[in-house]
Amino acid sequence: MATLEIRDLHVSVETGDQSDGPRKEILRGVDLTVKQGETHAIMGPNGSGKSTLAYTLAGHPKYTVTSGQVLLDGEDVLAMTVDERARAGVFLAMQYPVEVPGVSVSNFLRTAATAIRGEAPKLRTWVKEVKEAMAALQMDPAFAERNVNEGFSGGEKKRHEILQLELLKPKIAILDETDSGLDVDALRQVSEGINRVRATGEVGTLLVTHYTRILRYIKPDYVHVFSAGRIVESGGAELADKLENEGYEAYVKGGASE
Ligand code: ADP
Ligand code: MG
Ligand code: MG
Repeated sequence: MATLEIRDLHVSVETGDQSDGPRKEILRGVDLTVKQGETHAIMGPNGSGKSTLAYTLAGHPKYTVTSGQVLLDGEDVLAMTVDERARAGVFLAMQYPVEVPGVSVSNFLRTAATAIRGEAPKLRTWVKEVKEAMAALQMDPAFAERNVNEGFSGGEKKRHEILQLELLKPKIAILDETDSGLDVDALRQVSEGINRVRATGEVGTLLVTHYTRILRYIKPDYVHVFSAGRIVESGGAELADKLENEGYEAYVKGGASE
């Protein structure tokens, strides 16, 4: 079973347009271990650095690791290119281009699957796989022929994200604010998709979210509270219930000071 280990991760971000310009430290020593089969929720107030963690794992060039390590089964993830991360089994929805002009969802998914599996999936079984995954997410089959992200609504983007998750079968999946901008039905369908992938026992999920509502559909095994660039508390699903009732106030007061 694969294990992602984040060790004392410190990350700074460019605050201007220049790569040698001023920098700000955002992550201040994050420690977290996610194993295949586990679901972890990362929760915390806006601005606490949750997306910075997701972007850093995705290899976004704006974020610089100043110290610490990220290992997948002992392999240095930070030394890998974005493609190598995907091939190693780390899935990050935002690692793929925002908009891919002229590339249909169906071709995009097949190309991604080819890159990850090392060989092209057989066309016949692939078409069937895509159809089934789309039906499970209650997506219109015509969606497969649309161009990636072109005119996608917020809900369609999120479904496309979960479609990738279902088809690409990563070892570790990082989902940032998958619940934002979804109406109740879409939230339920997206959550069911995540739960189906979870039920295989073969994916470790890092569910990054500000709100607790998705956690009514997905019961995490572990909940971590993020504040001022680090994890300040960890617990089980009951911690999410506590956050739903009490908010983040206690953590912001205690943790947000510079
Ligand atoms: P969260 O996802 O928890 O809301 P973020 O990781 O998006 O938090 O942001 C954490 C902090 O880093 C915020 O104070 C934000 O303003 C700052 N930050 C993130 N990205 C940048 C950037 N590209 N330039 C300047 N500041 C940034
Ligand atoms: Mg430290
Ligand atoms: Mg964020």
